Amino acid sequence: MGTHALLSASSAHRWMHCNKSARLEESFENTTSIFAEEGTFMHELGELKLSRYIGAVKESIYKKKLKELQSNEFFNLEIEEAVEVYVAFAIELIEATKQRCKDPIFLLEQRLDFSKYVKSGFGTGDLVIVADGTLEIVDLKGGKGVAVSAECNPQMQLYALGALILFDCLYDIQTVRMTICQPRLDNISTYELSAEELLTWAEDVLKPAAQLAWDGEGEFDPSEYTCKFCRAKATCRARAEKNLKMARFEFRQAALLTKDEVAEVLSQADDIAKWCKDIWAWAEARAIDGEDFEGFKIVSGRSNRAYGDEKSVIEKLTEAGYSDDEIYARNLKGITALEKVLGKKVFSEVLAGLITKPPGKYTMVSESDKRQAVTVINTAAADFKEDI
Ligand code: SF4
Repeated sequence: MGTHALLSASSAHRWMHCNKSARLEESFENTTSIFAEEGTFMHELGELKLSRYIGAVKESIYKKKLKELQSNEFFNLEIEEAVEVYVAFAIELIEATKQRCKDPIFLLEQRLDFSKYVKSGFGTGDLVIVADGTLEIVDLKGGKGVAVSAECNPQMQLYALGALILFDCLYDIQTVRMTICQPRLDNISTYELSAEELLTWAEDVLKPAAQLAWDGEGEFDPSEYTCKFCRAKATCRARAEKNLKMARFEFRQAALLTKDEVAEVLSQADDIAKWCKDIWAWAEARAIDGEDFEGFKIVSGRSNRAYGDEKSVIEKLTEAGYSDDEIYARNLKGITALEKVLGKKVFSEVLAGLITKPPGKYTMVSESDKRQAVTVINTAAADFKEDI
């Protein structure tokens, strides 16, 4: 976590591949999202709990700060449980380190400066451990959308680089271990490099890419991953050109597409669909603000009927002689809502064996998707075989 620099660690994947994105993004406002704010809150809670554990905060201050955080709009049982998973993981690591090393160093929310390789580059390590020639970086991720891997993750490598620069003159660091702890997806991902490998990457790969990005030189590299969180994603010409090129795809002249041509379209369909969605959202927001886009207008969407005043509705129905059974519906809460009320642990204990998960509907995804391919049983064909 940290304030935004032109070449931030969190956007390193983007500017290292699409060097020109860094300067292009400057012309767009850097807005925060509710997810980012929630993530910041989780970091604050995690830091407070770990500070108490390592004795870096007085009990009275801990209690006062905890109370403040508990009254924060983002505080709820599910978030607290997720942070507890991170804290438990960190404590386990701290204790294991103490067992094997006499004088380890533990740092929380440590500013890590990697400006030697990336101009004005810095980040914050959630937990940094230095012990016996090993440097350990742990990063808490609050997201629950996509599991983030630590493997070859430039953000993690930048944090590790910052820590290596900070401690290498004091300790003989040989190994760098980077871990992402993403409790809401049960994701713990660890990746290890030798200090030498990290420095070689920094010199040969990172530094030249950072220089290009800083200078606004290099390449545009539109792809699903680089463009996903880019602030220029709706109106970037490189992305548009890539997607429109597909639309101009030169098919053979036969009346029907071949399977190869269909596969070619499919390989880009997802990215094109996302691009269309981004550009639509961008234009719609401006049109609602009064800008004109030729051929488009703003209309009121569908809306549903609603009770103006529920209390009066109930009174009227009761006066008219309707019973509670006729007026009210009593439903079991959904799994997510109930899990939020009970907490994950109690939920799984109390309802052990009562939650089922039927196999998901078949869906086609690209080869790069991490899920395992399944063998589709064609029941209609099997039935037909049995009949003959
Ligand atoms: S939208 Fe994609 S191609 Fe365009 S600058 Fe951003 S990352 Fe690069």
